[in-house]
Amino acid sequence: LGLWDWDIANDTLTINERQWQMLGYIPEATPLKSTFWHSLIHPEDAPAVQATFLAHAKGLAAGYKLEHRMLHKEGHWLWVLSHAMVTERDTAGRATRMLGTHLDITERMQFQSELQQANAQLAQLSITDGLTGVGNRRYFDQCLQSEWARSARQQQPLALLMIDIDHFKRYNDHYGHQGGDACLREVAQILSTCLCRPGELLMRYGGEEFAILLLDTDAVGASVVAQRCLDRIRTAALPHVASLVSDCVSFSIGVASTIPFQNTEPEDLVAQADAALYQAKHQGRARYVCAPQVLTETL
Ligand code: GH3
Ligand code: MG
Ligand code: MG
Repeated sequence: LGLWDWDIANDTLTINERQWQMLGYIPEATPLKSTFWHSLIHPEDAPAVQATFLAHAKGLAAGYKLEHRMLHKEGHWLWVLSHAMVTERDTAGRATRMLGTHLDITERMQFQSELQQANAQLAQLSITDGLTGVGNRRYFDQCLQSEWARSARQQQPLALLMIDIDHFKRYNDHYGHQGGDACLREVAQILSTCLCRPGELLMRYGGEEFAILLLDTDAVGASVVAQRCLDRIRTAALPHVASLVSDCVSFSIGVASTIPFQNTEPEDLVAQADAALYQAKHQGRARYVCAPQVLTETL
């Protein structure tokens, strides 16, 4: 435990051997000035150190306790748990002497930060599709619920594109399951290039189906994105010789957009997009259909 003894009236600070070593210095007998001591405190932590000291010195807080960083002689930062107490006051009640301890908690803080990073990574993984790297079904469900609520509050439209690869069973049959997996990755990559704004979210809904959620977007705006997706997959020209639509991989899209209002559920939007997707398949695939069927485009 590093010990420090601050004679506030004469502004001298005496620290023990352990405290010198903790900070990377060879122990010295000469007392320090508080300015040097303060210069070792991390600039981001300095306001909290000052506030905690003042609260205790003025008698507003019974003790002084906080965690902050201090500069090691070699230039890196140490985390210390700092405990202190005013032990002497003058007749006017002003603090004249303060005794404190420093416990080196750098390892614990590093461990905590690694744990936080690991938790953040885990949270990210739990919403990521392992095969394609885009958002997974869980993320879709989360986003749909939260964006539905937000759109309802703001009375803004929310659009959904349900995208289903055409004749994908035949793709697997012809190119093998691994070939199918590679194709799913490529389609996800192509679809991700079709998103322009932060409020456009791509997720794998399941199997060979993807979903794009478009915030603050009406049916016309959603149709523009749907057409862009069709254009990009056509330009990519991924071979699919077993397809009954063309020689290349294609998909069909169901588009739905609504302003959420009372008595409607997010599931209604999914059902609408699904119904439109069914229509797109029925009308010959490689196209999008808007629900209700106001807009229809072919590849
Ligand atoms: P449609 O044009 O009507 O959509 O026909 P389809 O063959 O795409 O539809 P269907 O639902 O009959 O088949 C979907 C296929 O997608 C069947 C399944 O094996 C395949 N599939 C689903 N998930 C995966 C996956 O993770 N990897 C691979 N390789 N194939 C998958
Ligand atoms: Mg399907
Ligand atoms: Mg399909």
